[in-house]
Amino acid sequence: MNIPYLELKKVTALHTDEIQRAVAEVVGSGWYLQGQAVQQFEQHYADYIGTRFCVGVANGLDALTLTLRAYMEMGKLSEGDEILVPANTFIATVLAITENRLKPVFIDVDAQTLDLNLEALQQAITPRTKALLLVHLYGRCTYNESIQTLCDSNHLLLIEDNAQAHGCRYGTRRTGSLGHAACHSFYPGKNLGALGDAGAVTTDDEALAQTIRSIANYGFSEKYIAQHKGRNSRLDEVQAAVLDVKLKYLDEENRRRMDIARTYYNKIKNDAVRLPVPMGEGSNVYHIFPVFTSCRDDLQAFLLNKGIHTLIHYPVPPHQQTCYQEYNHLSLPVAEQLAREELSLPLNPTMTHEEVAYVVDMVNCKS
Ligand SMILES: *Cc1c(COP(=O)(O)O)cnc(C)c1O
Repeated sequence: MNIPYLELKKVTALHTDEIQRAVAEVVGSGWYLQGQAVQQFEQHYADYIGTRFCVGVANGLDALTLTLRAYMEMGKLSEGDEILVPANTFIATVLAITENRLKPVFIDVDAQTLDLNLEALQQAITPRTKALLLVHLYGRCTYNESIQTLCDSNHLLLIEDNAQAHGCRYGTRRTGSLGHAACHSFYPGKNLGALGDAGAVTTDDEALAQTIRSIANYGFSEKYIAQHKGRNSRLDEVQAAVLDVKLKYLDEENRRRMDIARTYYNKIKNDAVRLPVPMGEGSNVYHIFPVFTSCRDDLQAFLLNKGIHTLIHYPVPPHQQTCYQEYNHLSLPVAEQLAREELSLPLNPTMTHEEVAYVVDMVNCKS
């Protein structure tokens, strides 16, 4: 059997006709930016997430960068302020911080739950700490009451990186509505993916939404009147139309992801392979299914030899990257261990029962 990690062609094929009709409509309309398709998707996505506002932007990194930038323009953050961020995140989360001349303070995570280490979090807070950038990595909700209490008692902005967790729940609420603002990526491989780059910010804060919208459009408050030194980061009409179609099927596709994950959890039995602590129903949308093993490279080579393609998320944590030499001296042992041991098994809504069973069998037979 040959099992690719993810075939976007198959993901798109689940809804080809509807997507093609939606794209054709935009093409025929002659209106390609700042039009009805974006407005409609923003409304639908805000309703879905459960926030008052959604601002479409060009990609997930911009969603993060513009959110922090808007808080600076609003006087809620200033250069050099410290932003708490999990040490095991994707580098984009950290790039958004440093691009704004803010200071990332890396917090190590728990090896079993992958949640932020609460003690480390508390110890890291200084008078300059102004925000927590919470990342729902792999599709797992990392928000909880302790996080909320910590943010409240230290007057921190709580910003969610929801790039990997569209549709994820915390009780009856969705991630993306839990903090002051949330940043979403619709990179094609994400649970809700466009056919190119796209992103959004969701928030209940009207001033924040307006500021982001303005900065993303040259800083204009009205046409040709610039209130901020802005840039161009707009969601386009074609991508919005595609996303609006795919949003309708997100819950269904996430349920399929959860079914596959349940099979992995029930059937993978290999003492050398560790699975993260499972989460309550709905609070993990399994963007990625990570397993951890001290012989990761062996397992990856073994599976590839059996036709199963896997990926590593991520092989080098941000603080050890070449571009972050100023942080290379930091010791974040759990994040570093996870980077050495993580392997992502294929998991996506197009996988068949036979493919899932084959992955289980092959992981189990690796000695
Ligand atoms: C994908 C991703 C981003 C960046 O999104 P892009 O749309 O690729 O810019 C940011 N944070 C996390 C956790 C991501 O997975």
